[in-house]
Amino acid sequence: MNIVALVQARMGSTRLPGKVLKSIVGMSVIEILLTRLSQSKNINEVVVTTSNKRQDDELQSLVESLGYRCTRGSEKNVLKRLYSAAKSIDADIVIRITGDCPLIDPGLVDECIDKFIRTGVDYLSTDPMTIPDGLDVEVMKFSSIENAYNNATSDFEKEHVTPYIRNSNLFSKELVSNDENLSHCRWTLDESEDLVVLTNIFESFYPNLLFGWREVLKLSMSRPDIFEANKGIKNNEGAVMGNGQKLYKRAKKVIPGGNMLLSKRPEMFLPEKWPSYFSKAKGSKVWDLDGNEYLDMSIMSIGTNTLGYGHPEVDESVIKAIQNGNMSTLNCPEEVILAEKLVEIHPWADMVRFARSGGEINSIAIRIARAATGRDKIAICGYHGWHDWYLSTNLNSDKNLDGHLLPGLKPSGVPRGLIGTTLPFNYNDIDQLEELIKSNNNEIAAIKMEVSRNEGPENDFLQKVRDLATENHIILIFDECTSGFRETFGGLHKKFGVEPDLAVFAKALGNGYAISACIGREKFMQAAQKTFISSTFWTERIGSAAALKTLEVMERTKSWEKITHTGLQIRQHWSKLAKEYSLDLNISGLPAVQSYAFSSNNNLKYKTLITQEMLKKGFLSTPLVFSSTAHSEDDINLYVSALGECFSLVKECENGLDVDSILEGPVCHSGFRRLN
Ligand code: PMP
Repeated sequence: MNIVALVQARMGSTRLPGKVLKSIVGMSVIEILLTRLSQSKNINEVVVTTSNKRQDDELQSLVESLGYRCTRGSEKNVLKRLYSAAKSIDADIVIRITGDCPLIDPGLVDECIDKFIRTGVDYLSTDPMTIPDGLDVEVMKFSSIENAYNNATSDFEKEHVTPYIRNSNLFSKELVSNDENLSHCRWTLDESEDLVVLTNIFESFYPNLLFGWREVLKLSMSRPDIFEANKGIKNNEGAVMGNGQKLYKRAKKVIPGGNMLLSKRPEMFLPEKWPSYFSKAKGSKVWDLDGNEYLDMSIMSIGTNTLGYGHPEVDESVIKAIQNGNMSTLNCPEEVILAEKLVEIHPWADMVRFARSGGEINSIAIRIARAATGRDKIAICGYHGWHDWYLSTNLNSDKNLDGHLLPGLKPSGVPRGLIGTTLPFNYNDIDQLEELIKSNNNEIAAIKMEVSRNEGPENDFLQKVRDLATENHIILIFDECTSGFRETFGGLHKKFGVEPDLAVFAKALGNGYAISACIGREKFMQAAQKTFISSTFWTERIGSAAALKTLEVMERTKSWEKITHTGLQIRQHWSKLAKEYSLDLNISGLPAVQSYAFSSNNNLKYKTLITQEMLKKGFLSTPLVFSSTAHSEDDINLYVSALGECFSLVKECENGLDVDSILEGPVCHSGFRRLN
């Protein structure tokens, strides 16, 4: 009988790339594993089977140089890879070992093979695990793996090789278990913390490589300290965790906070479960790293894509820009045409400066206003980015941004000398602004505000602000980073007929490509020349080319009307569902950037629950929804019917069902607090 051990290994692990070549006591993990496994008395041959990806060439070379055979096959369809390997080797009995088990114990493997032969079953394994994690063995007849290969259909069955056999009653099975349940012992290699523990273990026995697993157990009792590093990792996490969450765990080790934008942190949506990363995005759809497709009924990349993801015309323009060269010693002509177009759309403005992000362009507008007026102080209402000038609002009290989009922002690292230079006022409170201006006599350079975020202007608020600014020679700046192009072709201020002195745009302007603009009256804009505002990548071509095409498509399709219409439809459905399930729902925002919240102390839990359930149904869904022209009637209908089921669940919770009992992970973090 030909008894063959197939060691499944590859370089491309998501959690710990290249783990099988990591070094422990001067040897690679795979070499240690093969050395230990080949001590088995029952196994005729140990063979490594890896993927046919280029990155596994190195692994094959090493394995062959150590004198072992190495076969190659599909990376994802591991069942096919193992079946083909077993067939080509003429195996009668296959032992499946995974490359993350350098502590594999040949004595235990032999015990499994003996029992397998003695009982004559089709399949034997150590799962459900009572032995330590990292000693896993599966033994099967060639005919069992062949049967699985011929009949398994799901991707999961193909990737994980034996679920078809384990979940079917067509196979006779046996288990090898330990009297005491030791499955909490984590001796496998999935994460960098595991490598620390394994290194400690091998160093303790060095130069002996061939110690048994019970000796490791003894060591864990005499030296528990060296087993500490991976205590926080849950066993079998890898099998249930998506590739996105695995990558996010790695991200948090190398990127403070895990990513660059609070609004896209997985914890803001569904901690431990959110797909976190995308492999592809098109129209209203997003695909995660596991190939799952979702309909994006959430923040649409936080409002950058009013024309949907990967708009063909915009992308074509960008591709052309790339083909002609994105950067050169000379400037790109597109920026001039784009500046002229923005001025044409906003006749009160004469000149434009560009940057690439919203925070940047806000800082530029503030610098221009200070340079133009010779004054330092700024009155603000709303969120305007991460820069010192804005965060300084919270220097003397962390309550100063209460009532604005992101309350409680911490100004650590912002010079205390900026205290009192940025002064907040509340939306629709003209008396407060008037008082602020009076008490800072002739010191305020600019009033910087969002035209409307969660509520609309009341009592002619915007015109009154305009008048106050004019009377006091203060520059009025509208921050249209989020509101721009959502309700008009240009700034939201056009709808209200109030003209600022400067306005800034970002987000939607390039439909997913980085470009932001500060437009303004010449007499103020020229002050950009009294100071120094200059940056290398503000000159690249992609941003301007994308914006020019985005504006053309927006104008032609009247995208702002379409996204507002879609937003209003969604809003009506929210209200209808709330009524149907007698839930108290607050809806706010522009129709194209709107959100709902439950009037309940459980609001955050309900938000998490809905995200959790909608994700299962194939939606990236949040209470904050940015609509795009790619959202079709069908999309909305699918969304509303799925959301209805979630609202019904919320209703059950309101009627006594314990929401905690149906949440499958931690509650999401709150960040963007609503105004009301
Ligand atoms: N201003 C407003 C009104 C915004 O909504 C945002 C982003 N949420 C910004 C400025 C900052 O833009 P960015 O994130 O591109 O720096």
